[in-house]
Amino acid sequence: MDYKTIRLKKGKEESLGRFHPWVFSGAIADLPDGIEEGDIVAVSDHSGHHIGLGHYQIGSIAVRMLTFGDEPVDDTFYTSRLKAAFRLRQALGLLRPDNNAYRLVHGEGDFLPGLVVDVYGTTAVLQAHSPGMHFSRDVIARALTGIDGAGIENVYYKSETTLPYKARLDPQNDYIIGSYSTDVAKENGLKFHVDWLKGQKTGFFVDQRDNRMLLQQYASGRSVLNMFCYTGGFSVYAMRGDALKVHSVDSSAKAITLTRANVELNFPGDQRHEAFAEDAFKYLSAAKKDIYDLIILDPPAFAKHRSALRNALIGYRRLNARAFELIAPGGILFTFSCSQAVSREQFRLAVFSAAAQSGRRVRILHQLTQPADHPINIYHPEGEYLKGLILYVE
Ligand code: SAH
Repeated sequence: MDYKTIRLKKGKEESLGRFHPWVFSGAIADLPDGIEEGDIVAVSDHSGHHIGLGHYQIGSIAVRMLTFGDEPVDDTFYTSRLKAAFRLRQALGLLRPDNNAYRLVHGEGDFLPGLVVDVYGTTAVLQAHSPGMHFSRDVIARALTGIDGAGIENVYYKSETTLPYKARLDPQNDYIIGSYSTDVAKENGLKFHVDWLKGQKTGFFVDQRDNRMLLQQYASGRSVLNMFCYTGGFSVYAMRGDALKVHSVDSSAKAITLTRANVELNFPGDQRHEAFAEDAFKYLSAAKKDIYDLIILDPPAFAKHRSALRNALIGYRRLNARAFELIAPGGILFTFSCSQAVSREQFRLAVFSAAAQSGRRVRILHQLTQPADHPINIYHPEGEYLKGLILYVE
């Protein structure tokens, strides 16, 4: 296949030489005529040596590399990448009778930049973050249903909010293959309604699976406050871990309905759980001291971009400071940041400042991250986004 070639400025091939998968627009010497968003392009160094193939788009990240060297992007490209991604999830032990919710494709972490696929039983939810992946959605959907052993029958496309607005691709959320089947997925033996049609992201945050399991171990006999509960994932695990009571809070009324439904699905009629549709900061400022001895703070990304970093760090500090003020002595705080723009050190520093402000004695018990089905390509450290601390507060 012949592709148009993007030639880089002198020296700008270095990061690609280390397999970093992005070409920034500032690194480009010549943009060929007639190139369109979503095209597959060849990338060469300044003297014309071929580096690899990638998806072109307008914006600061101009090319997302699909292959390096001579590897082609042919008919079998998506099939072989997806099969390899599936083999990894099998090796991770994520496909079991009691677990069928997992991330099958984590963008650069699976050498498919711009693509996210989450699987819930027989349904895969496909999310394109680049025009190139948008244009390839049918091929990808067919390749997904062709993975032996994955049992994927339905592919739902959900990219209305993830594609660059300026590309004017006007994507429609809809099934590419199959149709609605059960919306109940299993995670570590617990059942969850997953609303991929109207829910946030692909409908569920599979990235907290391991951390929820850890929470279960700490829940026994504790009074739990699950802030930013969304589908109630942490709440349901806390209940299985024999929590005394569990309060779930989210500002979205839909999230609260979903949380109640998920608690009911696993623990019908259980009176230990209550859910509140309220703003987190409001709830925390009104809450009484010492009634909770296990608090989870899993807010949405406070910094969606680098420009919002300063305010995000202030937000994390304020939120955590309030939790330190409230939590009963001997309490355990699970605190997270999913902002990619906030580094592990910056987050820890924000939590440190909050602890210092409260004057409590605080120790770090665990340092948490994203699970193995959200692998980080070692040449693409930007793929690391989830950070968490489990703290013991005296
Ligand atoms: N802990 C969840 C994921 C949290 S996602 C899980 O394990 O699946 C973040 C949630 O925060 C969303 O459900 C969103 O509705 C909620 N949220 C955003 N801003 C909020 C605010 N100011 N107060 C309370 N909840 C908020």
